[in-house]
Amino acid sequence: MLNRLNLWFCVILLSISLFSFSAVADVKDVKVESSASGSQVLFKLSKKSKYSHFTLKNPNRVVLDIKGATGTLNYRAKGSGELIKRIRNSTPKTKQDSRFVLEVAKLVDYEITHLSRPDGSYIQVKFDDPQPISAMITSGQTERDDDIIIAIDAGHGGRDPGSIGPQGTYEKNITLAIAKKLQKRFNAEPGLRAVLTRDADYYISPSKRPLIARKKKADLLISIHADAFHTPQPRGASVWTINNGRAQTEFARLLENKSRQSELLAGANTVIAESEDDNASFVRTILDMTKDATRKSSYDASDYIISELKKVTKMHKKERQYASLAVLTAQDIPSILVEVGFISNPTEEKNLNWSKYRQRLADSIFTAVSKYFKVYPPDGSLWARLNKTGDIKHVVKAGESLYKIAKRYDISIAQIKQANNLKRDSLKPNQTLLIPKG
Ligand SMILES: [Zn+2]
Repeated sequence: MLNRLNLWFCVILLSISLFSFSAVADVKDVKVESSASGSQVLFKLSKKSKYSHFTLKNPNRVVLDIKGATGTLNYRAKGSGELIKRIRNSTPKTKQDSRFVLEVAKLVDYEITHLSRPDGSYIQVKFDDPQPISAMITSGQTERDDDIIIAIDAGHGGRDPGSIGPQGTYEKNITLAIAKKLQKRFNAEPGLRAVLTRDADYYISPSKRPLIARKKKADLLISIHADAFHTPQPRGASVWTINNGRAQTEFARLLENKSRQSELLAGANTVIAESEDDNASFVRTILDMTKDATRKSSYDASDYIISELKKVTKMHKKERQYASLAVLTAQDIPSILVEVGFISNPTEEKNLNWSKYRQRLADSIFTAVSKYFKVYPPDGSLWARLNKTGDIKHVVKAGESLYKIAKRYDISIAQIKQANNLKRDSLKPNQTLLIPKG
């Protein structure tokens, strides 16, 4: 555990290291690492050197002065979810020193120490920010939304049109149109809710899309695309996920057992919270298992989608396909990419431009995902609760009251309200209610 420094109330924190120093040190390199207990920055020095540091707000940064040192560094985070955003040089107070500015996403507790390793001398800045890693764990314990949340990702957008059909159809427009139809279907279903990674024509990088899904606490990510080939013949849909090299391992077999799986994952948060460095390998194991569980879910959901899609379109590939695509890399969210057809095939281009056809595709994906979540509802969701009791659906007719419906199914009004998360007694015509078994 690190010393607790309440940085929110402490604008400037100054501390001087205990280490002695002698003349010029060269700052050779900087390394940023993320581990289970947080992130750390390692400054490699040609020799041990004295340092001091303080923090500044707006923007949040940690300033590190290294005595009698030279060196130029420039580091930028690759992902937008990183704690350490940038490391750069700045003008030091005295000419003989070097000043490095660590731009951080937020000010968290940190500790600076000198490390002597066989390969050299380091100044280590250790940030106590377990958030990024624990956020990767499927949270069996933390409170979740009643709704199962499905992130729908319309491929491409903005300056990236995706593939372009022979008639000039842009893939980015087709994907967005299908995504919106799909969202409508999900949102009309009690217990399901869809969020879009983009809802208009703008660009988002593929690697940012899973981050958006995570931010929206998605239980599943479906990325919609249309295929293209340099000849007009290929046609049909295909469904893609990330490959699982460990599918045959003991872990994967263990994870086949759903109750064991949630038991293991439910413990993971606690493990991480209590973990010290020497527990890191165990935490990594838990994370690997999360990854395996996520992949297995991706496979299951893919197969549901394939079996529904083939009812409305020819399949280019009848089996699920594997690829290392950036949009599919969330370790904690089952992620699937659906190529709805070949925009380069004139017939399919025409179909994809037809709203009714797009609706058919959206409907089939909706049906598949609903079937999948009926069987595998996330723990703590409304559907998981209903699964235990049965789930008759009732569509409210005009003038029908909760009292009347409760009487008809011989259950209490309170039971219906609880099952559907209703706050009031009023109902809307055509509203679908899930009726728990009495
Ligand atoms: Zn695409």
